[in-house]
Amino acid sequence: MAWFKRQKKSIEQTTPPDERRVKTEGLWTKCAGCRAIVWKKDLESNARVCPKCQHHYRLSARQRLELLLDGRWVEHDAGLASNDPLHFVDTKPYADRLKEAQRKLGMCDAVITAEGLLNGRALLCCSMEFGFIGGSMGAVVGEKVTRAIERAIERQLPLVIVSCSGGARMMEGTLSLMQLAKVAAALGRLDEVRLPFLSVLTDPTTGGVTASYAMLGDLNIAEPGALIGFAGPRVIEQTMRQRLPTGFQRSEFLLEHGFLDAIVHRKDLKAYLANALDLFLA
Ligand SMILES: [Zn+2]
Repeated sequence: MAWFKRQKKSIEQTTPPDERRVKTEGLWTKCAGCRAIVWKKDLESNARVCPKCQHHYRLSARQRLELLLDGRWVEHDAGLASNDPLHFVDTKPYADRLKEAQRKLGMCDAVITAEGLLNGRALLCCSMEFGFIGGSMGAVVGEKVTRAIERAIERQLPLVIVSCSGGARMMEGTLSLMQLAKVAAALGRLDEVRLPFLSVLTDPTTGGVTASYAMLGDLNIAEPGALIGFAGPRVIEQTMRQRLPTGFQRSEFLLEHGFLDAIVHRKDLKAYLANALDLFLA
């Protein structure tokens, strides 16, 4: 019965399934802070801060340098790479993990050392990359940060380190832990020549990085809502057998308890650092 059964194909059936979908995927994102639907372009043009609730999204090491420095910078020690001294294997070999991260991010390890200008003032700036094995600090990160400090001393320049790290790199065992002492000793020498070190703690700054240079700044400044701590909340809770207070290990809690000097919104960070350097170097 032709009049009863549709014999022609409907319009939908003639278009292949993947073309039928409306192509807005990837243009919008649900904010992790306020659950609002945010246009990704708005987020990018706002330095990756949610325009609705001011939730600070993570920046890559390069994005951070672009935000803080005036135009171009010179990168130091870019070729320094780990050689897997312990031949470490967990779910996969550390050597493969390194290669994968290097290929994905186009950098040899988890920190960029830049020499450039911040509001016209020359300085050294280390910026950590969380995408590279959780921004973990192995021998290379420790060495690059130490060299940056030594270069600052040699060239009489101030130092800014932007931390974004899960802590010491497990795959380099005690060699990672040695970096804590090495970097701290170098910062001691920077202090002796009276050059300022401003530490910027971003989400997350934990473990061995908190336990060494991130907390040793002449000023320790954090972004709003950043997770900052040594051990994670779950580990502490299990050890102490106590419920932790709300907001524990977030910037605001740390400021209230005297661990930080200031919490600075990302849009004000460059001006804040410039002003602080003016004061220190006046
Ligand atoms: Zn939001």
